Amino acid sequence: MPEIQRRRAVTVKIGNVQVGSDAPVVVQSMTNTDTADVESTVQQIAALARAGSEMVRVTVNNDEAAKAVPYIIEGIAQKGWNTPIIGDFHYNGHLLLAKYPDTAQALAKYRINPGNVSIGRKDDDNFRTMVEVAVKHQKPVRIGVNWGSLDQALLTKMMDENSRSSNPLPARDVMMEAMVVSALDNAAAAERYGLRRDQIVLSAKVSGVRDLIDVYQELASRCDYALHLGLTEAGMGMKGIVASAAGLAPLLLSGIGDTIRVSLTPTPGGDRSEEVRCGQQILQSLGIRSFMPQVTSCPGCGRTTSTYFQELAERIQTYLVEQMPEWKKQYAGVEELKLAVMGCIVNGPGESKHANIGISLPGTFEEPKAPVYVDGKLFTTLRGDRIVEEFQEILDNYVEKRYGKVLVEA
Ligand code: SF4
Repeated sequence: MPEIQRRRAVTVKIGNVQVGSDAPVVVQSMTNTDTADVESTVQQIAALARAGSEMVRVTVNNDEAAKAVPYIIEGIAQKGWNTPIIGDFHYNGHLLLAKYPDTAQALAKYRINPGNVSIGRKDDDNFRTMVEVAVKHQKPVRIGVNWGSLDQALLTKMMDENSRSSNPLPARDVMMEAMVVSALDNAAAAERYGLRRDQIVLSAKVSGVRDLIDVYQELASRCDYALHLGLTEAGMGMKGIVASAAGLAPLLLSGIGDTIRVSLTPTPGGDRSEEVRCGQQILQSLGIRSFMPQVTSCPGCGRTTSTYFQELAERIQTYLVEQMPEWKKQYAGVEELKLAVMGCIVNGPGESKHANIGISLPGTFEEPKAPVYVDGKLFTTLRGDRIVEEFQEILDNYVEKRYGKVLVEA
């Protein structure tokens, strides 16, 4: 697969994680617990970290949340995680960061929304205060512009200028330009107030796919700051997943993006870690990073006799998710593993041969047997009621033999 040429971006150190073109594209997420509830927030951060979130953002929206942050970071450390925790500040960040120095010190990065730090003010003293706290504690910041909270004074000024122009641009183009200008102007101000370029990450989030692509292409062409990508409100379920993939893929393939978040709306009681797995899957589908063994399975059609092969594909997928936390520790490179679970002999053997391990189940009127291919060669043929269990045993043995050996040799 041809290598993607990453846009050159300054590398930023965020806790123990590096972000920028010298580092892999980082997957991050954000909690939705009440930050003041230390126990729930620690539990959710641990779950997100276990799922593979390499940084986690928490909202710091009031005194109680600010006071809780050091205890949260202590709590996740006690659980064995050193995941960088990012503080998300709006409106009152300048007050909270100044009032709670332990919190300012404990956080790995501050997210500043330039659209709501100086509302109603003619100066940027609040923004400046936040940057000065970052300088004092030597913390990086993300200047996170969001079209839902874009600096209204800047937007109004640019809209007015545009309307007086002899050749006015569409309002949408002015809005996109205002987002880019807001990010770049605030980054320049942050540098004037003492932050280094390698302490600044930029984002300019919108909720439309085409807008996302346009705004980031423009932003990327006008600076070398590290960029955080994501739709600001991707939505629920399939819509959110598809929109995120559609928006991030063209940017990532053209080398734009140093860290990503997939902002899915969870279903009530749903698993917050879904957004982490979705971000990982986008990167893995594009061949940018590997996180999980991949299962290729056919959609099924009238040739399949039952839902049996769908159940097998699902059971294998679930088994992989369950095994990976342990496998990752024991078997270096296991995330590169490729499996195929196919519904009949039409494409089954062929697809299976392209995988490390593949199984082709019997379709309608086919003999009730399931050939298994290992590294492109017919390994065995399974029959009877224990096909799933026997396939899992073959999988376990393969992982042990192939990736355990690599680890020992290393
Ligand atoms: S592999 Fe067989 S069952 Fe699966 S979609 Fe193709 S023809 Fe249908």
